[in-house]
Amino acid sequence: MRATTLLGKIFGLKQTRIQGVTIDAQGLVVDVAPTTRLPYCSSCGRRVRSVHDRYEDRRWRHLDLAALRVWLRYAIRRVDCPRCGVVVELVPWAENQSWFTYEFEEQVAYLAQGSDKTTLSALMRVSWRTVGANIERVLPRHQKTDLLDGLTHIGVDELSYRRHHEYVTVIVDHVKGGVVWAQPGKNAQTLNAFFEELGPERCAQLEAVTLDMSAAYLKAVTEASPQARVIFDRFHVQRLAHDALDQVRREEIREADPEVRAELKKSRFALHKNPWNLSTIESAKVAQVQKANQPLYRAYLLKESLARILDGRQVNVARKKLCEWVSWASRSRLQPFQKLAGTVRSHLEGILACFATGLSNGRTEGLNGKIRTITRRSYGFHSAASLISLIFLCCSGIVLQPVHR
Ligand SMILES: [Zn+2]
Repeated sequence: MRATTLLGKIFGLKQTRIQGVTIDAQGLVVDVAPTTRLPYCSSCGRRVRSVHDRYEDRRWRHLDLAALRVWLRYAIRRVDCPRCGVVVELVPWAENQSWFTYEFEEQVAYLAQGSDKTTLSALMRVSWRTVGANIERVLPRHQKTDLLDGLTHIGVDELSYRRHHEYVTVIVDHVKGGVVWAQPGKNAQTLNAFFEELGPERCAQLEAVTLDMSAAYLKAVTEASPQARVIFDRFHVQRLAHDALDQVRREEIREADPEVRAELKKSRFALHKNPWNLSTIESAKVAQVQKANQPLYRAYLLKESLARILDGRQVNVARKKLCEWVSWASRSRLQPFQKLAGTVRSHLEGILACFATGLSNGRTEGLNGKIRTITRRSYGFHSAASLISLIFLCCSGIVLQPVHR
């Protein structure tokens, strides 16, 4: 059997003829050509009669063969499409403007769902940035279009990335437990774009929306979907308490004596943990803080007691305790907690609504954690679009299979 025939059988590429094969410094180079005589326009996808010219050879990365890199080589044509003008042809093995074959990209996307950054980059021998661009192309091939249908209980979350300089807004479906929408930005305008896409009919179906306590989001929700119950996410309330604790800690470290300062610097992890999860050493650190710095210990108690209140189940008990907490925090002489007390006071009903509905817990908590992990993993992607593609790829119910033949 000739080598080209053999490779044709091994690769099994559709509508592709194998014309030759060589090995060079980059790996196995396979000369290919489309089997169709008339080329396809890469812009509109239709067949075109007139070929404008032929480019220099181009290379597309294909799945490795026996640990060798494989490249498909072909002198791509430019066509003169009556509708689109002079554009390059569409080749059957790769998406327009991609330097990777469909199968290569599918394999990358499959790995992106489950493996870590280093493993994926090393195994496929591509940069993490390339992975981002790859999954941006793969996602539309697998994405369901009806994600926005039938939504009744949704959650709005903002994620910061690139060291907190940029944001994306993510909408999750509390009922089915997946991401249904995501766009760059974190203001009312961003959320308005979601409601516009949802349309007035589907907006009217919304029963509850969980939010973090940002005024921008709140306004967008009450305008687009006034019947929906607004629930403030308890995990966001807790995150704010952790932030306030951090602020107090930084302040106290700045003003402490050198030897106390060293102690306080080591306390961060222990202070943020739940008390019943503390190791003996961590408990000792908290005890040390209690002795060395009263304001910081007070901040720790405020953070902890708020968490315990939010753990409760009864609305009436929670209402009473939250009011007590607000007055305690207001008198705490810790400015970050005084500010948080004000926020809790003015959003009290929305915070209490989470006790009545039981929303923003369970699987959504897991989902939010997963989204945050993905966001941290996306560091190195060049655009928000790559991050959003990865979020959808991992959190919207897309099931990918490894490329096997
Ligand atoms: Zn065209």
